[in-house]
Amino acid sequence: MKPVMALVGRPNVGKSTLFNRLTKSRDAIVADFAGLTRDRHYGNAKQGRYEFIVIDTGGFEPTAETGIYSEMAKQTRQAVAEADVVVFVVDARGGLSAQDHDIAGYLRRLGKPTVLAANKAEGMTEGVQLSEFYELGLGEVNAVSAAHGQGIRSLVDTALGLLQLPEEDEEEGAESEDGVVKLAVAGRPNVGKSTLINTWLGEERLVAFDLPGTTRDAISVPFEKGGRKYELIDTAGLRRKGRVFEAIEKFSVVKTLQAIESANVVLLLLDATQGVTDQDAHIAGYILESGRAVVIAVNKWDAVDEYQREQLQRQIEARLAFLKFASLHLISAKKRQGLGPVWKSIGEAHQAAMTKMPTPVLTRLLQEAVQFQAPKRSGMFRPKLRYAHQGGMNPPVIVVHGNSLEHVTDAYKRFLEGRFRKHFNLIGTPLRVEMKTSK
Ligand code: GDP
Ligand code: GDP
Repeated sequence: MKPVMALVGRPNVGKSTLFNRLTKSRDAIVADFAGLTRDRHYGNAKQGRYEFIVIDTGGFEPTAETGIYSEMAKQTRQAVAEADVVVFVVDARGGLSAQDHDIAGYLRRLGKPTVLAANKAEGMTEGVQLSEFYELGLGEVNAVSAAHGQGIRSLVDTALGLLQLPEEDEEEGAESEDGVVKLAVAGRPNVGKSTLINTWLGEERLVAFDLPGTTRDAISVPFEKGGRKYELIDTAGLRRKGRVFEAIEKFSVVKTLQAIESANVVLLLLDATQGVTDQDAHIAGYILESGRAVVIAVNKWDAVDEYQREQLQRQIEARLAFLKFASLHLISAKKRQGLGPVWKSIGEAHQAAMTKMPTPVLTRLLQEAVQFQAPKRSGMFRPKLRYAHQGGMNPPVIVVHGNSLEHVTDAYKRFLEGRFRKHFNLIGTPLRVEMKTSK
C-alpha cells in the first residue's frame, strides 16, 4: 500500500503550493470525490522509487456558520487520521501564531510521525531566522520554499524516513508468485459492497485458505473459486465484524485508492437505484488512471423497473464511455442473481491484463496497421513506425519504436490501440500504447 502524507497548517502558509509541487510530476490530481471530501484534495506523488498519496487540506472555504477555526480543525483531524505521516507547514516569513501552537499541540499529543516545514524560506538564513519554530516542540525545522522548489526533496526524504517502507519495491499490482489474483470491490457507500462480499463468502464452493503476511490493518480475505486463488483486498469502507463484513460510516478515499492500486482486478459496483453519479465517475476515472483491470456490475437490478433500466443503460454508455472495454453485468447481490458471469469476467479481465505479447507478433500487427492506414504527415515530418515490444503488464503496455513519433496523432494512437486490443482480445483491461522515437 502506498503511504499517505497529509499537509496541515493554517491558511496561507503554502500547503496548496506544496501539494501542487509534490503532485505535479504525476500531473494526475486524483479524483475530487465530489460531495464526499469537498474540502480535501488527494494526489499522487513520487520521489525516487517511492510513491505516496498526498492529502491537502488547503482547499476549504470557511463559512460564517462553521467558523474558520472549527472547520480547519475538522479538516486537519480527518486528514491526519488518514495519514501515515504528517507534514506540518508553517510560514517562515509570517512567524509563529497562536494557531500554529494549537496545531502543534494537537500533533504532539497524537504522536503520529510528523515533520515540520517552514515554508517561504527562500533566501533566509536558517540558523538565525528559523530558531523560533523549535518552540513548537516538533524537532528539526525543515526550511523549504514550495514556490521555488527548495528543500522539498530533503523534506520528503525526512518524512518518508519516518515510515518503515519496504526495502524492495514490490512490482506495482503485478501478480504475486503464487498466482493469487488480487481483487478489490470499489464503489460509493451503500451500493452493496458488503452485501455482495458476504454473499460471496457465504457460498459453500468458496474455500478460504491461509495467506501469510497480510498488510497492516487491512481486511484481506484469501479464497479459492473455480480452481483459481483470489485475495479480496482491503475494500474501502468495510470492516470485519465477526464472520461478516459491514460498511463503516465514513467513506475513505485513501482506502479506495490504495485498494485499487494494490489490486489486479477491480470490480466497480454501481447502484441501479441511484444511476451513475459523479462519485461513481470519479472512482471509475481513478481505476482507469491506475491501469487496473476492471469489471463493472450494476447492483440492485431487482429494485428498478423497465424504464429505469433503460435510463441506466444509456447513462452508463454516456458517463462511463471511457471504460467501454470493460464487461458490464446487471446483478442483485441480495437476491443472488447474475453473480456467476461476474466471476467469469473477473477471470477474463485478469487474463487480459497479464497477456504476454511477443515482439514479432506486435511488430507484425504494427506493420499491418500501417499498411492499412499510414499515420498522417505533419509538416515536414512523416512518423515512421518501425517495431513494437511489450513494456509491461497489468496494464499491458505496448511500446512502439520509430522516428518522428511525437507527430503521431491521438486518433492514430487510438486506431493502433484498437487493432492490438482486437488481436489479443483484451477485454477488461486498459491498454497503453507509448511512442518511443529513436534518437
Ligand atoms: P494554503 O492556504 O496553505 O494552501 O496556502 P497557498 O499554497 O494557497 O499559498 C498562500 C500564499 O503563499 C500564496 O500567495 C502563495 O503564492 C504563497 N507561497 C506559497 N509558497 C511560497 C513560498 O515558498 N515562498 C513565498 N514567498 N510564497 C509562497
Ligand atoms: P456498502 O455500503 O456498499 O457496503 O452497501 P451495503 O452492502 O451495506 O448495502 C446498502 C443497502 O443496499 C443495504 O440496505 C442492502 O440491503 C441494500 N442492497 C444491497 N444489495 C442489494 C440488492 O441487490 N438489491 C436491493 N434491492 N438492495 C440491496
